Amino acid sequence: MIVMKFGGTSVGNAERIKDIVEIVRSQINRKPVVVVSAFSGVTDSLISAANSAVNGNPALEGLKRRHFEVIEGLGIGTSVIWRELEELEILMRDISPLKELTPRTLDTVMSFGERIAAKIIAEYMTKEGLDARAYNSYDIGFVTDSNFGNAEVLPETETNLQKFLRIPEVHIPVVTGFLAKDKNGYITTVGRGGSDYTASIIGSALDAEEIQIWTDVDGILTADPKIVKNARTVDVVSYKEASELAFLGAKVLHPKTILPAIKKNIPVRILNTYNPTHKGTTVLAHVNKKSGITSIACKRNIKIIVIHSPEMFLFHGFLHKIFKIFDEMAISVDFISTSEVSISLTIDGKYDTTKLVEELRKLAAVEVKNNRATVSVIGVLPGNAPVIPGRIYTSFEDKNIDVEMISAGAWKINETIVVKEEDANDAVRILHETLFGE
Ligand code: ASP
Ligand code: MG
Repeated sequence: MIVMKFGGTSVGNAERIKDIVEIVRSQINRKPVVVVSAFSGVTDSLISAANSAVNGNPALEGLKRRHFEVIEGLGIGTSVIWRELEELEILMRDISPLKELTPRTLDTVMSFGERIAAKIIAEYMTKEGLDARAYNSYDIGFVTDSNFGNAEVLPETETNLQKFLRIPEVHIPVVTGFLAKDKNGYITTVGRGGSDYTASIIGSALDAEEIQIWTDVDGILTADPKIVKNARTVDVVSYKEASELAFLGAKVLHPKTILPAIKKNIPVRILNTYNPTHKGTTVLAHVNKKSGITSIACKRNIKIIVIHSPEMFLFHGFLHKIFKIFDEMAISVDFISTSEVSISLTIDGKYDTTKLVEELRKLAAVEVKNNRATVSVIGVLPGNAPVIPGRIYTSFEDKNIDVEMISAGAWKINETIVVKEEDANDAVRILHETLFGE
């Protein structure tokens, strides 16, 4: 069997849904389990509707219209979602007098996006001759802890799924992504964008042949196509590369989402609903690649903190004191580079550094540089000589791009440079040209 996950823009309107049904049909003999997330934008709309319900105005009209439009476009009856809509309306009415929105209630509110999507898609598939049935993921075994909004899936989910989701099924199961229940029976969600995770857990529990994540790009590209016009798709990436890429700013799957699949050595394919015959990118646990560059990623809104202390730097315990301050402020450090007298670190631009700087200044001179970007080269990098940095510096020479920091990952899988944000696009383009020869 295979798992086919369709989310967000792949289920944005009636036309898209018609397309995905044909995609499912084309692989029908591989016994697909379909996982769906809410139609694009619906989860956000549900959150704002819940917030306005707190202020006494549960605005559901837009959401209802949105779903009725899709239903009409598909030529099915509205009755398939009456029950869910009624439940949602009652829930919203109950929120108003409470004047507060707990994370638990919000999870139940959000759940309607996936529940309604699964119902509509299963109904349409059946109308089109694919006998499908909608399942709420919590009815087929998804159990989590009670950390509403970002719940952890519990291990018993695996055996539950094996029991409740009998394959081969007579029907094609269309399962809600993102949702589960805790042990007290309350609906939980597994974190924004979590439908991929649901798909991966189902695939892993049922030993799927592969897990397909259908999206709106041709997989993982050599660079962001908005920056590099001739960026091309990478056929295969290792799990390590995929996680580095996600961390370093590429818009690929969140590594956590595919971990259950990778642990069981199940290939995860990223495919494009707009271009279904393209083979996309396959993420594998291990890739036998001796060396080669996979992709260039870029992350903006980074701050550099430069700590300078000629006298103190070589004293033992100094670095410990510095990192203790970061730790106490719960600020996570991404890259570090050191010299004899100073240390430069990067942190996410979202952090307010006022207090941090105040504390650090008790130990050393501190400078904060805002509006920086990291540009990273990911791949299996040559083992010894600093080949990549050399080529990076040479290619930047006459372009007036200042490389302010450089840092290599321990896995020999990434080299990252830090530049001014305004230079980031140029840096990505030049690197792509230098390293991919295009
Ligand atoms: N609908 C959920 C979200 O918007 C889950 C998902 O899309 O995977 O976060
Ligand atoms: Mg997603």
